[in-house]
Amino acid sequence: MLRHICSCGYIYNPEYGDITADIEPGTTFEELPDDWVCPICGLSKRAFAHVMKRKHVEYDTLS
Ligand SMILES: [Zn+2]
Repeated sequence: MLRHICSCGYIYNPEYGDITADIEPGTTFEELPDDWVCPICGLSKRAFAHVMKRKHVEYDTLS
């Protein structure tokens, strides 16, 4: 899954969501509400950039 990184260094991981904002695990970055902000520094989604590095980490199932 695509990850996004904030300018502060926080990385949004869709596998975990954001419990501080009631974002369920499995929520992609695109599905985040427009008023969602970085839990660390409070910047909006627009401050985030794609994480291009492909680490070969794949989870087949989360069940
Ligand atoms: Zn941030």
